[in-house]
Amino acid sequence: MAKTVPKDDFKRVRCNLCRADSSRTAMRIDGFSIVQCGKCGLKYVNPRLKEGVLHRIYDEEYYRNTAFRGSDAVFYGYGEYLKDEQDIKATFRRRMDVIGRLVRKGNLLDVGCATGFFLEVAKERGWKVQGLELSRFAYGYAKRKRNLPVINRTLEQANFREGTFDAVTIFDVIEHLPDPKRTVAEIHRVLRKGGIVAITTPDIGSLVARLLGKKWEEVRRVREHIYFFSEETLRKMLESVGFEVLKVETAGRYFSVKSAVERGKLYSRPVFSVVEALAKAFGLMGRKVYVDPRYKMTIYARKK
Ligand SMILES: [Zn+2]
Repeated sequence: MAKTVPKDDFKRVRCNLCRADSSRTAMRIDGFSIVQCGKCGLKYVNPRLKEGVLHRIYDEEYYRNTAFRGSDAVFYGYGEYLKDEQDIKATFRRRMDVIGRLVRKGNLLDVGCATGFFLEVAKERGWKVQGLELSRFAYGYAKRKRNLPVINRTLEQANFREGTFDAVTIFDVIEHLPDPKRTVAEIHRVLRKGGIVAITTPDIGSLVARLLGKKWEEVRRVREHIYFFSEETLRKMLESVGFEVLKVETAGRYFSVKSAVERGKLYSRPVFSVVEALAKAFGLMGRKVYVDPRYKMTIYARKK
């Protein structure tokens, strides 16, 4: 993806949570502005790339981005998503445990299911699953290589019957969506009464986000991340469409020491080159660790 974007690819938007048109610039990164709504406090990119331009980002390169191998490519997407399967699934099993305690097993929809790793975890636990994925690459992979029931559409386009699902999950997706409030309302519609939604997203109110400012990885992804929620603004959005928030927790993830070192190098190459040499010397590169810098949150909410 090119570093410079034509002016015509941008548009101005109102606050998605409260519809106000009053905001102040909170941060400028790579020519993009992250603004904060003067009325409700929601942070979002404005002006931002138009939907058609946004969608073109999610090709195969998105899941194998050279930025993670040290080139100067634009920072977005993932390093080696498929190779990280076991780490990603271990992370997902923890969330599945929580969902299993909040709602009885049934139909589960994963919005933005990528290559289908969470769908496989849910299937292992006996759920009947359905996935939605917009990336042609990830959709094709989930469907053909993993034989998973995935549709290459948005939630709104899929138009499921009201009350179809017992649980809807949407992990690392809501911050990418052009109209998250509409999507959250649609999730509410397709859930049965008492059904659960689980949302994972970066927390702009977290200590790490506040300390790192513009250096925080999640805000450096301004091309793809267009909404930056705090616990407060995400709660407000969920409540505004009829959800009751049950639980909020920080969302860490499992890393092999090897991939933790690679990510560390994005922040400080000299420091993490030393860490890498030490980890190699002690034979730790293959080890798995649960890392929780507490800058992502998972919110669990119930349809009232
Ligand atoms: Zn607002």
